[in-house]
Amino acid sequence: MIEVRDLRVSYGGRPVAEVPELDVAAGESVAIVGESGSGKSTTLLSLLGLTEHAEVSGQVKVCGVDVMTASQKALRELRGARAALVMQSPQAALSPATRLGTLMRRALRLHGRDDPERAMAEAVEAVLLDPAILRRYPHEVSGGQAQRFAIALAIALGAEVILADEPTSALDVTVQAEVVGVLRRLRAERGLALLLVSHDLALVSTIADRVLVMKDGAVVESGPAARVLAEPSHPYTRELLEALP
Ligand code: ATP
Ligand code: MG
Repeated sequence: MIEVRDLRVSYGGRPVAEVPELDVAAGESVAIVGESGSGKSTTLLSLLGLTEHAEVSGQVKVCGVDVMTASQKALRELRGARAALVMQSPQAALSPATRLGTLMRRALRLHGRDDPERAMAEAVEAVLLDPAILRRYPHEVSGGQAQRFAIALAIALGAEVILADEPTSALDVTVQAEVVGVLRRLRAERGLALLLVSHDLALVSTIADRVLVMKDGAVVESGPAARVLAEPSHPYTRELLEALP
């Protein structure tokens, strides 16, 4: 579902994310961890062709689409339905004067889905949200609710891949755990491919099959989550593990 080789993203000549290899198959879950500014979000955005003003090179394939050479139209289609991005603060990207239900209905119609009402109800239930949320405006929901709404929208549209950028605020640990719990269930039930970004090694250990550890824009360690957590080979990973409560 996701295949990356020799990805390199720079801003104004300064490399901020270098990922030699990253693969996520259907039903698989991979996490990118690392401290603030290590290049996690940049990596995620570049996989969907969303890094504006950046110099990007390498090979990136998502759902069979060659992201480096695809047209803007093909990229919009990819992001619109097959590969969904769940951002750190999804509210910011939503139109403030549109109720969430209206927004979801429009998206489902735009992509020609039949029976949007049923798809909406099912998706909202799948992410454990109260259907009343569909009557609310973006500013009336919490960050975690907005993230779960974004996941609901993705699954209603039939997404095969979810790229999720977790909230980094330390205060949001329980909300993060909730969102991760929803993703874990959807992966098991629907065979979604998940690429999850977090600064929290403890949290990703509950969901990821494999982990990439980033520091200063480079991948310093990668491998099966169980191995990386039990026998970290890089001093930075050991530092991250020691910082766990
Ligand atoms: P956090 O955990 O805080 O979300 P992150 O690992 O997601 O951090 P990125 O947002 O990927 O980090 O940023 C990596 C580096 O790239 C940072 O040094 C940041 O300043 C830089 N950067 C990100 N976006 C831009 C941009 N649009 N223009 C210039 N530099 C950028
Ligand atoms: Mg980030």
